[in-house]
Amino acid sequence: MRGIAILGSTGSIGKQAIEVISLHPDRFFVTALTAHRNAALLFEQVRLLRPKMAALTGEKAEVPKDLSFCDFRFGPGALEEVARECEGKDILAAVVGVAGLKAVMAARKAGKRVLLANKETLVAGGEMVMQACQADEEGPTLLPVDSEHSAIFQCLQGAGPNKYKKILLTASGGPFRTWEKERIQKATVEEALGHPTWNMGAKITVDSASMFNKALEIIEAKWLFEADPSQIQVVVHPQSIVHSAVQFQDGAVIAQMGAPDMKVPILYAITYPERLFAGAKELDLFALGKLTFEAPDLEKFPSIQMAYDALHAGGAAACVLNAANEEAAGAFLQGRIPFGKIYEIVDAALQKHGHLPARSLQDIDEADALARQAARAHM
Ligand code: NDP
Ligand code: MG
Repeated sequence: MRGIAILGSTGSIGKQAIEVISLHPDRFFVTALTAHRNAALLFEQVRLLRPKMAALTGEKAEVPKDLSFCDFRFGPGALEEVARECEGKDILAAVVGVAGLKAVMAARKAGKRVLLANKETLVAGGEMVMQACQADEEGPTLLPVDSEHSAIFQCLQGAGPNKYKKILLTASGGPFRTWEKERIQKATVEEALGHPTWNMGAKITVDSASMFNKALEIIEAKWLFEADPSQIQVVVHPQSIVHSAVQFQDGAVIAQMGAPDMKVPILYAITYPERLFAGAKELDLFALGKLTFEAPDLEKFPSIQMAYDALHAGGAAACVLNAANEEAAGAFLQGRIPFGKIYEIVDAALQKHGHLPARSLQDIDEADALARQAARAHM
């Protein structure tokens, strides 16, 4: 039996993780659950899955009497406490934003294996996180959950000592792929939340519309697969069937395909290298008919180039990009800024703080705080 802690169990990834884990009660059990504010759903999940630990990180709430079997923790430090103290080896990091970084570091310090959906953690803390995630005697200690990175990881199985030549990172293009630039600038929250192929949490859905999600994923791929930025090519593929591909020296390209369903990469991270039933829809190639590919429009979506520039700048530039984007996406969702302003805000923060160092967790904290300040000032 493998014990799994789910950080962010009330979110889109967290709920789907519970679904796939529940398909295999003879193989997996839940050791801990966490939410930020949604106490009602957290309590319901604890009642059903009976973990020994749980945390509500955003506020305090009264624990119902029938849940006294569970050790509840509250407040911002509770995420790290759960990551460090929960039983079992696996932690699924499925909180949103850089809020997951310290918990991931704490989990690694305690010898846990990190299944990473929370890409902002790797974007902000790249070098430090990778240093903390060296493989151990049981294999990798960091497994990607993000569908593209899971796809790349799957494509590399069986590559032996051969290093890939290029990563083809696919992108749906989001809801504004075919829109004119002027219309994108004024897009509403409702329009940005209408993702064509994936059903996800609000922040990542806005990121997909601005293509900052792909920007974060370029940086995520750099760290996970030790890629030079020039080896990562974004390929817009609106059907979201090819989840990404790798090209080798001899010209061979290996792609991973499937219906767009996060249950598959979530379960693969848990069971790797084994494959189990994930309850996902089977791919019907005849029904699909054709798959299309196009280059991203870098003028309409300046986020992509900002990721490459941040990688070239090094240091805390990626952390600054991420923090400013978290602020901007949040402000857009609250109706405080127009959509087009997201790019301006991230760019302004990068101009101001893109040169900061990232040698320690404290450096990252500082760069994150300064970037948020700059982002808010620019609003
Ligand atoms: P959601 O917004 O749906 O869920 C976020 C989860 O994190 C919730 O449990 C939420 O609790 C909790 N949370 C929110 N803020 C904080 C905080 N400050 N500290 C601790 N916990 C917090 O997000 P998603 O599930 O969509 O995404 C989670 C992560 O996975 C993101 O990093 C995203 O980029 C990544 N990802 C998501 C994909 C998807 O399909 N959804 C695909 C690939 C990657 P509460 O419910 O109480 O607010
Ligand atoms: Mg993705």
